[in-house]
Formats: sequence, C-alpha cells, structure tokens
Amino acid sequence: MQSLLQVQWRVTPLKTPRPWLHCPRCDARTPFVSSDKFRVNAQKKCLDAWLVYRCAHCEQSWNFPVLERCPVNGIEPAILHALTENDAALAWRHAFDLTRLGRHSSQIESFAELSVEKQLLSPRDGVATHAEIAIAAPYDCGVRLDKLLASELGLSRSAIERLADGKALSVLPANRRALKQMVRDGQRITIDVRALPFADPSLFTRVSAGPAIPEAPRP
Ligand SMILES: [Zn+2]
Repeated sequence: MQSLLQVQWRVTPLKTPRPWLHCPRCDARTPFVSSDKFRVNAQKKCLDAWLVYRCAHCEQSWNFPVLERCPVNGIEPAILHALTENDAALAWRHAFDLTRLGRHSSQIESFAELSVEKQLLSPRDGVATHAEIAIAAPYDCGVRLDKLLASELGLSRSAIERLADGKALSVLPANRRALKQMVRDGQRITIDVRALPFADPSLFTRVSAGPAIPEAPRP
C-alpha cells in the first residue's frame, strides 16, 4: 500500500538581482542594489512610481520606473498602499522582473544564495513509500530543479537523473526537461522513497547544511 508524505519547500533567494549601470558619480559601470523603497510622485491625478536603487560603491540613486503616468483612480487601492508603505513583497516582485529590468541594463547580476524553508503538509503515519514536494517559489530563484533536489536531498545530480529515468521521480506539470530547467513556482515532485539509497523520510523536511547552491551567474 502506498502512503504519501507531503511537504512544501519554499525557495526564496536571499538577495535581489543587481543591474549594472553607468554611475555618473563613479564615472564607471557599477552594480546597483535595490533599496526596497519606492519613490512616488503624483501630479494632476497621474502617478509615477519608481523602485529606488543605489550604486553599491557611492550610494548614487537610480530610479527603476514601476508606474509611468498612471491615472490615480485606475490604480488598485492595495497597490497604491503598498507603494506608499514600501511593501517589501511588492519591491521584491519588481526587483525580480528581469524582463523589465533588462530594458534598462544589459547586465543583471543574480545571486545563488537561497533559503529553503521546509514544511510538513500531511502528518505521517508509519513509513511513507512516496514523498511529494510542493515547490513554492514566489521569485525567480535562478536554480535548476535537479541541482536543488540534489543539494537538499544530499544526492548527486546523476542520482536524481537515474531516479527520473527509473520512473521513481516525476515532476508535475509534466515536462521532459523540467529537471534541467529553473525551479518554478507550483511544481510538484513525487519521489518513490523506496528507490532512494537511504530510506529516510525526515530528509524531505530537514534543513540542508549548505546555505548556498552555486550557480553560474546569468547574463
Ligand atoms: Zn557610484
């Protein structure tokens, strides 16, 4: 009989990406760091909002446009409140919008350090035969799924691949290349615990030893 251990892994980067821009004060291309603060300017019922960045070397500011000439009454009150209160989640959402950031900077530096918070979703009775990992990744964390699983489960990437080849590991939504692609929010990974080299279900909720998963910087 199958018994299922359900866990959630919440994967969050520890730092926001840094766009490299020409800093007029340093007179050089330097990395800019998000201050997690917004600047909001209202004029004649129109609103502009920026996420404020600072040069990592001299504190020179750069404003990343978030809203441009937006009619105030067209903005959701919750968003307006979040902008004026410097809501951290909204600041991070914009700081990880690499598509829009990429319009202002040709070089965006991402960081590999992640936190992986693990939570047991279903109480476990007896020995689980299968484990289901639900991934919550609210921000683009830039790490491959096989790398995350290998690092957190203490296995090699080839061991992860062998599990998948032997149908002991599957990923939903189904995608043949999912393991080699970046971790996505909402993914579910099911693993036949009996196929693991060591059947220890506590592995799925244990905090990993290493804080960082090395990942090549993205262009
Ligand atoms: Zn500077």
